[in-house]
Amino acid sequence: MGFSKGLQLMSTIIVLIFLVGVIAFIAIYPGQIHIDWLGYTIDCPIGLCIAFLIIIFFMYALIHKLWRKILKIPIIYQKFIFKKQRDQGQSLLVDSISALFAGQPEEAKDLIHLCQEFIPGDSVLTHFLAQSALSLDDVQGAEKLYRQMLNHPRLNFLGAQGLYQCAKLEKNWKDAYDYVLKAFSLRPDSPWVTKELCSVTIMLDKMNVAKDPPLKKSMSKKDFDVFQSARLWIQCHHMLDDQKKMDALKTIHQTCPNWVVPTYHYALLLEKNHKRDRAKKVLMASYELSPHRLLGHGWLKCDSPGDIHFLSALMPLISIHPKHFESLLLQAQSAFEEKNFEQLIPTLKELYETNQKIEYLMLLEYAQKNPHASMVNLVNPLEVERSFAWQCEQCHHRSHHWDVICEECLTLYSFQWTDLSPRHPVLMNHMNHDDRHYLIGVNS
Ligand SMILES: [Zn+2]
Repeated sequence: MGFSKGLQLMSTIIVLIFLVGVIAFIAIYPGQIHIDWLGYTIDCPIGLCIAFLIIIFFMYALIHKLWRKILKIPIIYQKFIFKKQRDQGQSLLVDSISALFAGQPEEAKDLIHLCQEFIPGDSVLTHFLAQSALSLDDVQGAEKLYRQMLNHPRLNFLGAQGLYQCAKLEKNWKDAYDYVLKAFSLRPDSPWVTKELCSVTIMLDKMNVAKDPPLKKSMSKKDFDVFQSARLWIQCHHMLDDQKKMDALKTIHQTCPNWVVPTYHYALLLEKNHKRDRAKKVLMASYELSPHRLLGHGWLKCDSPGDIHFLSALMPLISIHPKHFESLLLQAQSAFEEKNFEQLIPTLKELYETNQKIEYLMLLEYAQKNPHASMVNLVNPLEVERSFAWQCEQCHHRSHHWDVICEECLTLYSFQWTDLSPRHPVLMNHMNHDDRHYLIGVNS
């Protein structure tokens, strides 16, 4: 900018110097131009003649400039109209995105169609149109649009991502794998792609379709090991050879000691193969991280084969988490089975303090007043009550069994043992007539 301005100034100065030079030259050497043509004679001083030529030159330049401006008018008008349309289209786009996020896909779709008239061929619009189709459960319509995007050099990731979502909705895991792999080739560092690729691979493992995604480099070692453990767990279901299965379960337990269910199965297999001490060590390691009644059951199976659960056997394990609700239930149950009423009363007290359920308070009173009464009918309700379930942290899907993947939302390692307490007394239904009569008396 500075350079061109300097150049302009210099050329102006040069022109001025030249003009002054010419004027000076004419002043020093004045003269006349004599024209004699077709009988006409013109005598003109040379200064006037040059001034006339200069005026003609400037007039020409002015007219030329003006003419060019006139020629440009239609283009300027077109640009103005185009800008106006674009502004209108953009405000419609903002409205349609708002409708989409407000959960009004019908409105969004109408607005996007209107928008396309103002800004035809806009790539962003294709994406939002596909998204609104997907929100309207028009999977095929969305797929068509996403496929167009897949061939577009700048929209190909969004296209692959959209097609993956469609395949996922249709539970078509093979296609889902191909699309997420395409997305992975475009953005290998994306944590979303890595996570989804893991999930789909595990779903295919479940269908016995083996795929080996190139994930090792894009994941941390720890994450990759956990992923491999999840795959191993699925393979374990088909393993018939005890030794092979034990090796696999060992790897899983060592990588993910907080996975209660594989640990439980590992311990049972160790116990079956006369490695009781190892089994208990394994159970205790997991219990320390995440106490769970399965681990307690496994512990009792290792320690007291047969039907009676001995309290003394259980204590070394559950004393790690003395306030764990299910462990306390197990403790109460063992105390009942052993007819160890001295231990039962403090356990019931602890249960009531942990859970604040009226049943435990009533049981406590009953046990204190009738230490030698028939307890069998009171024991069962403790075990029967199942207010816990495996629940997906992400989508709250509930399942009776633990799994490495939530089949509803495909989140990995999301199942948590969750208290879903209905808080309804279940005890009364399980009592004999006399006990019920007694408890009603206590309560009133
Ligand atoms: Zn889920």
